[in-house]
Amino acid sequence: MTAEKLFQEWLGLGLNWEVVASRFERESGIVSLEIRETARLRESVRCLHDTGQVFCYDHTESPTWRHLNVFQHRCAITCRLPRGKCRQCGHAFRVRPPWEGLSTHFPKEFEAFALLLMHAMPMSQVAGLVGETDTRLWRMLFATEGKNHGVWLKFIRALETHNGHRHAVRQVNMDMSPAYHKGVKETCRNAQLVFDKFHVVMNVNPAVDQVRRVEVCLGAPGAGGAPPEPVAVAQEPGAPDGAGDGPDGRPGGEKSAHRQGVSDAAGVAGHLPQPHSGHSAAPLPRVVPVGAFGGPQGA
Ligand SMILES: [Zn+2]
Repeated sequence: MTAEKLFQEWLGLGLNWEVVASRFERESGIVSLEIRETARLRESVRCLHDTGQVFCYDHTESPTWRHLNVFQHRCAITCRLPRGKCRQCGHAFRVRPPWEGLSTHFPKEFEAFALLLMHAMPMSQVAGLVGETDTRLWRMLFATEGKNHGVWLKFIRALETHNGHRHAVRQVNMDMSPAYHKGVKETCRNAQLVFDKFHVVMNVNPAVDQVRRVEVCLGAPGAGGAPPEPVAVAQEPGAPDGAGDGPDGRPGGEKSAHRQGVSDAAGVAGHLPQPHSGHSAAPLPRVVPVGAFGGPQGA
């Protein structure tokens, strides 16, 4: 068996495509495979519009697909793809090769491996592991401009053009933008929202810092005053859905944090129980809206 036949078997090309050349480029360390269609392909391809008979109109330039490594060496597939033309309606189209994934630069197997890694680590690390630029890897994912709830609708449309279903989405990992919240709730009835750890911690840290500063103003424990009451750290329940549909889509941004937070220590101090008031059962004040934290027990 020749190396070309071996690669043809490994790639599962069947009878419509064949590996016509394989070589190892020592300097670049790349295993290069050249693929071409066979005469059988023309018999099996039909017009996408009316299933009419097709003839080979011409060939594309020679694109390259980055495949999974062969042993430790990069593997690249090149193939001038045939363009078919319908004898009935004249429609011309590029024949999609069986190895091509959704992103057109990578084969399906490479995409599956990279997506598996993306679940577990940042994109820069995935890029380092697979030896690709993160720019090319990002193209495997859906990306669009905007921060309002409308971007979620764009994503759903893209998902459904790839045979996905909006109600099959079970979990959505996101930041705490009410705009995204609204988009998910309006489109994916079975989706559970999961706020990602980064954004939770990003909100908790300044909140804790602000509470600490308020405590210092009121008299810190051990400095002669009684221990201050615990402070509730909870999401603002009254924030309307879609309130984030402003230019930045984030009502909880800096302005909002300033409005609802404790950056004005004097204003907040007026709502805190006084250290010596003796009313331990007084209602706990809400200080900073930071997301999906339940209020403290007894709040
Ligand atoms: Zn046709």
